[in-house]
Amino acid sequence: KLALLAELKGKPNTTLDGKTVQVFANIGGMSDVGAVQQNDAGGVGLFRTEFVYLNCTDYPTEEYQFEAYKQVLESLAPKKVVVRTCDIGADKTVDYMKLDHEDNPALGYRAIRICLTRRDFFKTQLRALLRASAYGNMSIMFPMITSLRELQDAKAVLEECKAELTAEGKKFSDKIEVGTMIETPAAVLVADDLAQECDFFSIGTNDLTQYTCALDRQNAKLEPFFDPHHPAVLKAIRMTIEAGHRHGIWVGICGELGADTALTETFLRMGVDELSMNAKSILPVRKIIRGVDLSKPSAKNV
Ligand code: PEP
Ligand code: MG
Repeated sequence: KLALLAELKGKPNTTLDGKTVQVFANIGGMSDVGAVQQNDAGGVGLFRTEFVYLNCTDYPTEEYQFEAYKQVLESLAPKKVVVRTCDIGADKTVDYMKLDHEDNPALGYRAIRICLTRRDFFKTQLRALLRASAYGNMSIMFPMITSLRELQDAKAVLEECKAELTAEGKKFSDKIEVGTMIETPAAVLVADDLAQECDFFSIGTNDLTQYTCALDRQNAKLEPFFDPHHPAVLKAIRMTIEAGHRHGIWVGICGELGADTALTETFLRMGVDELSMNAKSILPVRKIIRGVDLSKPSAKNV
């Protein structure tokens, strides 16, 4: 690993024929920041913010969240950090939110669905994020989007928070990109509409696989049926990248598949702009990117 780091440190992630992509890390809090630097990640493509909720016994305040986000943003500046708004629900629950038991939690009240129906809860996070944006290079993305309406609603709440902070004289960055996580088949199918209303897409392949193949990602019994390279999932990824590019926005992958070196060349040929993954996969993936020649026919016929 150290040899790989020495070989790749500071080098661009450019293929032999000259295409450069970003290789970013997924993080879940301040404790992962060291690994971002140690593995020479270009930035963070998925900052999961559930830790602020899971670490508390009651709703985390704006001030508490602001400090937590600011610390991460400041430590990583000037690297880009793509923050995902609250994805509580389904596999991640907290007692104080008093969420009802659901028979189908993966299809239930989670993530953006909670945020859009509990506006004050959502606004607390967005205000904290906006204030933290003044201390680094932040982008914001929304999870579990299934329709244009949801994206527009979420953006409207963000704008409302910006207006409030401006009125209060509190500073925030004016360069925040806003993105949509593509992790439901519905989002893939309306990607052309979504792309016109946001700055980037980030494909969450864990949920996209779960929902495309109707396979509960929490259910170990389903493992024999689980094909991470299912052609339907790969087609959904291709469709998303093409839709994003038709409208001039960048498209990344931040689910587990982004770390799958057997698919790196496939994703490059699809035109992906960014791959975000667990920190330990970064150097092996970068090594592969630098050895690929996209001008030659693929050995794998992708
Ligand atoms: C995903 O669904 O692929 C994703 C990146 O988000 P999470 O694994 O946190 O649901
Ligand atoms: Mg997800």
